Amino acid sequence: MTTKVAILVLVLVVAVAARQALYYAAGPSGEKDCSPIAPPVTSASSSKESGSGSTDGDLQWAQRGGRINDVSCLNPTPIRGIVNVQDADDVRRALAFASRSGLKVSIAGARHSQGGHAFAADAVVLDMRRFNRMSLNEATRLLTVQSGATWHDIQNFLHPRFAVKAMQSTDLFTVGGSISVNAHGMDHQAGSVGGSVRSMHVMLPDGSVQTVSRTEQPELFRLVVGGYGLFGIILDADIDVTENVVYRSGRETVDYRNFVTFFKDRILRDPSYRLMYGHLSTSPGSFLKEMLVYTYKDAEGLCRSSAASPCG
Ligand SMILES: Cc1cc2nc3c(=O)[nH]c(=O)nc-3n(C[C@H](O)[C@H](O)[C@H](O)COP(=O)(O)OP(=O)(O)OC[C@H]3O[C@@H](n4cnc5c(N)ncnc54)[C@H](O)[C@@H]3O)c2cc1C
Repeated sequence: MTTKVAILVLVLVVAVAARQALYYAAGPSGEKDCSPIAPPVTSASSSKESGSGSTDGDLQWAQRGGRINDVSCLNPTPIRGIVNVQDADDVRRALAFASRSGLKVSIAGARHSQGGHAFAADAVVLDMRRFNRMSLNEATRLLTVQSGATWHDIQNFLHPRFAVKAMQSTDLFTVGGSISVNAHGMDHQAGSVGGSVRSMHVMLPDGSVQTVSRTEQPELFRLVVGGYGLFGIILDADIDVTENVVYRSGRETVDYRNFVTFFKDRILRDPSYRLMYGHLSTSPGSFLKEMLVYTYKDAEGLCRSSAASPCG
């Protein structure tokens, strides 16, 4: 009797596993459900949007009800609505509304996080992308930037004299979304984005604004960097910028077993290597054995000049 039950259970497990395997191996049965996607930001960063969306008191609703999705289109999530944020008061009002209504709040930057974790069901979603003003103190090389600005906005603003010190490998993302995951980039000397953040203004759920840095409320600072928006809403950040330097690109094929030695002996020893990343081969002959390492060297030797140290 026990053997029969065991066989029955085994057959059931195999049948379920086979069904799932076939499901995952099958081609798509239709078009990807990619709606709604984030509409492009069209309004000027300095003017209040009007005419689109409806208001709730002073809330600027870009969308009521419906769903939100991230860039993968795989995570449609039903929400209470999307509120456009253009200043800190918009955030405060949305937090108060959510608190009154017993709703959760989610924060949307460029919506490029793809794990389905960025949006809570039935949440009030803050669309931060219009919250993107910035100013630069050239003497201290400090950029003060609102959290909805993208690295693309910032690079355009800083060019030609300065550049972002630490960011991802592309410039699509918002400052808030990048600090919240403590993103890494190609600059192994600069490290992750959090390393270039000197201080931030963070709004807590009660609407109060806190200044956080490594010396002022250091614990909250550490929690917010890489905190996925769970500890407060980043309003703006002071981030280090660096001199804009011309790089010369190079490529090298490396056996993956030699990569650590290659990195230690070549890249780390020579500070003129400013950026680098590697791709493992997906070619059948060298599948996951070879790496193509891309390097970017300081073409003008500026970073080696310790007197000026413009790239520090
Ligand atoms: C093509 C592609 C390339 C990538 N390359 C890299 C890479 O090179 N290095 C790397 O590290 N990562 C990389 N990523 C991942 C990317 O850095 C993260 O997904 C990042 O969070 C995206 O930023 P976003 O503006 O889209 O944020 P969103 O996806 O909109 O939000 C991400 C998280 O940040 C929180 N958040 C957003 N704004 C705020 C705010 N103002 N205050 C508090 N919390 C906030 C949200 O709550 C959410 O949890 C890549 C992703 C893609 C799709």
